[in-house]
Amino acid sequence: MNWQRRLDSSEQCGSTSDSRVKKGVRKLKLPDEKGYFGSYGGRFVPETVMIALDELEKAFAAACADAGFWSEFELLCHDYAGRPTPLYHARGLSARAHGVNLLLKREDLLHTGAHKINNALGQGLLAKRMGKERIVAETGAGQHGVAVATVCALLKAKCTIYMGEEDVQRQSSNVFRMKLLGAEVCPVSTGSRTLKDAVNESIRDWVTNVRHTHLLLGSVVGPHPYPKIVAEFQSVIGRETKDEMLARYRRLPDYIVACVGGGSNAIGIFRPFVEHESVRLIGVEAAGKGLDSGSHAASLVRGKAGVLHGTKSYLLQDGNGQIASTFSIAPGLDYPGVGPEHAYYKDIGRATYVAVTDDQALEGFKLLCEAEGIIPALESAHAVYYAVRMAEELSPESLVVINLSGRGDKDLGIVSKEIEARQ
Ligand SMILES: *Cc1c(COP(=O)(O)O)cnc(C)c1O
Repeated sequence: MNWQRRLDSSEQCGSTSDSRVKKGVRKLKLPDEKGYFGSYGGRFVPETVMIALDELEKAFAAACADAGFWSEFELLCHDYAGRPTPLYHARGLSARAHGVNLLLKREDLLHTGAHKINNALGQGLLAKRMGKERIVAETGAGQHGVAVATVCALLKAKCTIYMGEEDVQRQSSNVFRMKLLGAEVCPVSTGSRTLKDAVNESIRDWVTNVRHTHLLLGSVVGPHPYPKIVAEFQSVIGRETKDEMLARYRRLPDYIVACVGGGSNAIGIFRPFVEHESVRLIGVEAAGKGLDSGSHAASLVRGKAGVLHGTKSYLLQDGNGQIASTFSIAPGLDYPGVGPEHAYYKDIGRATYVAVTDDQALEGFKLLCEAEGIIPALESAHAVYYAVRMAEELSPESLVVINLSGRGDKDLGIVSKEIEARQ
């Protein structure tokens, strides 16, 4: 199976063709030169940050054209992270879904337990190539922080992770992991003392120390070129899925279902299928305690366009236009914004976005444990639940791929408390 990035393909690095390309309406490269996906994306940052982003953009373009860079990335993905991940026909889960064929893309089997390592490795190599010996990153629950600390240990880079004070307390085992891996963890005490504030601090650090420091953003968010860079490194998920589908089933899937926090695992698996309009793409957001409860993180389903962390996209805002506080049982989905590429796909109708509540995600979590002997991340459980529900309306020959973005070990504490509370 050829799971590797094809440098000889006409597909340009960091861009995908839009559905309108095929119809010949107009040639559209995503994102455009200024980093726009339709009217979303771009760069809403001060001048000092602009210079740093320009430098990063140039370095990424050079890396894209360098086959040596990609072979190093692929080697680490293979030998260190454990790629390619299997595309597993989940017969037990399919039996609970009216016999519709459900296939799991097993990103949960990767080193550090989720897809985040793909992007951390890619950007780590990019930083090294740029001669930066220090890496800063934001983290919410600590999953991205652990992936970055891991890659920094591997590549011998200094590592500083910003984490909201609130999260440092809630996620002490991930703080310990990062420290074991040699990272410095800086608690952030501004604002709501969570992820949003940690992002601000890491950007501030980056701009102050940009000469020798790289900012390693964890999802397809932030100012251009971050959404493009992260999408490129994560689209290894979709390329493998496509090759495996064609090799095994001689056709593309009918549906691809992925959870959406910032949106990187979803973009990663969607990307190579965007141009194939027969493949329905479905992003599942966190409806938390319910879409009308005020405690959710469904930016695409319930948000409005606005600017956060240097990019224009859908956002959750309160009545005064302030960033709303969010909630989800899944720490990785608990972010008030979402990548601009998703905002664009929503508006042009190329992807559909839905939301699943905490209770439903817990149902999906238990279902996968029992039906397959796989304990999913709570984030991924959102996608599992939705795919099984959706199957009720599909014909049994349908092929549905679920991106199992991560494993559930990190969530056992949350789940045991929830089960207790519900008894
Ligand atoms: C961080 C995380 C997510 C959410 O991030 P995306 O950028 O939306 O992919 C989803 N699943 C797992 C397991 C995560 O750790």
